[in-house]
Amino acid sequence: MTSEKELKKNDMIRIEIDDISSEGEGIGHFNGYTLFVKDTITGDIVDVKIMKMKKSYGYARLIHLITPSPIRVEPKCPIARQCGGCQVQHMDYKEQLKYKENKVKNCLTRIGKFDKEYIDSIMEPIAGMEEPFYYRNKAQFPVGRDKDGKVVIGFYASRTHTIIDTAHCYIQAKINEEIIERVKVFIEKYNITTYDEENHTGLVRHILTRVGFVTGEIMVCLILNGDDIPHKDKFIDSLTDIEGMTSISLNINKEKTNVILGNKVVTVWGKPYIVDYIGDVKYQISPLSFYQVNPVQTKVLYETALDYAGLEGDETVWDLYCGIGTISLFLAKKAKKVYGVEIIPQAIEDAKMNGKINGIENAEFFVGAAEEVLPAKYKEEQIYGDVIVVDPPRKGCDEGLLETIIKMNPKKVVYVSCDPATLARDLRYLNDNGYNLKKIRAVDQFSHSTHVECVALLEL
Ligand code: SAH
Repeated sequence: MTSEKELKKNDMIRIEIDDISSEGEGIGHFNGYTLFVKDTITGDIVDVKIMKMKKSYGYARLIHLITPSPIRVEPKCPIARQCGGCQVQHMDYKEQLKYKENKVKNCLTRIGKFDKEYIDSIMEPIAGMEEPFYYRNKAQFPVGRDKDGKVVIGFYASRTHTIIDTAHCYIQAKINEEIIERVKVFIEKYNITTYDEENHTGLVRHILTRVGFVTGEIMVCLILNGDDIPHKDKFIDSLTDIEGMTSISLNINKEKTNVILGNKVVTVWGKPYIVDYIGDVKYQISPLSFYQVNPVQTKVLYETALDYAGLEGDETVWDLYCGIGTISLFLAKKAKKVYGVEIIPQAIEDAKMNGKINGIENAEFFVGAAEEVLPAKYKEEQIYGDVIVVDPPRKGCDEGLLETIIKMNPKKVVYVSCDPATLARDLRYLNDNGYNLKKIRAVDQFSHSTHVECVALLEL
């Protein structure tokens, strides 16, 4: 064990973990020097080996867990440590929720410079899951072969593209296990080639599945480095008797890329989409559509947004960064008019179609960057908004967009966010320009990961 002040690579030291990084690594200190240690959590006392050192911080590897943290639990999943999917399954779920809530609070006070007591007084308790397992409705399993040529299907090991062969995932819909086993048997029986990333050879790259949690409809899409699959009928036959099977398709991706899906989809059996509901709004989902992955918590998220919007029926509402119009359609039933804006044209086509299949006529959608469409519609057509909802990607809102929102003077702004740091930055800007932060609630959409979703209400 090292006792001197100066650390160097390969030293073994004992430290206590006192925090967790936003990526889920434990953080400990040795003579004031910060170390990140994967697979550890607050309260663990651990022996670690120094792997990499930078000027003000370094990385160490867990060698022995000397005293486990009181909030540590045995992960359900036997490969939780190797797999890149979950980061904090070894933390008690209630503690995961506390950790996420604190993460939001810290961002609001440190980055947003909001008063801590004020935040404590307005923050609503985090919405956690009752059963934080088997919650995902979408899975993408890489397909390959191990060094003995055996077919492997499962998940990438953390930070690598090595496939861990496993059919059972504790956060995915349970039916995936059956689907994977059947596809594996098919590939082995007919000796179908599997994709080799390095050499860009072989056919089957990934299996994409989607499950409608309300409807029970199932979609399987095989992603190919080629145009078709040999013995296609046998492939289809191997899946159709699974209860709920609704759509089987091939996705063509012949590029040498680690982007999973190509642009072309060929439906080979059933419908080109599945249908699912959030609340009483119906959505058609195709292999390429963006759709929230945790339907149970998405409902909580949207209901919170709807509650914060406080609609009475005569409002004009903007839903910026609207994706396939999920929030817009959720709000449309309670508003006079909803305008949705989204940068991806295909998503707007889906949004329009989803409006149609629900018989919603008071929602209108525009393709474009929110920071360009909103100012243009406001200046050129004098379209106002009583309530403006934003749900931006992780980088948050463009400052120009926030300026336009302030000029438009809506009564309320509802901010849905997947990154508390940029949320805090944008809330500060809005707060300095006349919008008071009234309520905020975190929603756990991604149990066992370090991600946290939030909804905030600002009022003029
Ligand atoms: N509100 C939707 C989607 C949120 S994800 C839902 O709940 O399902 C964020 C969306 O913002 C993505 O669909 C992304 O394509 C879109 N986006 C990214 N940058 C944008 C921009 N500058 N203007 C408009 N939309 C944008």
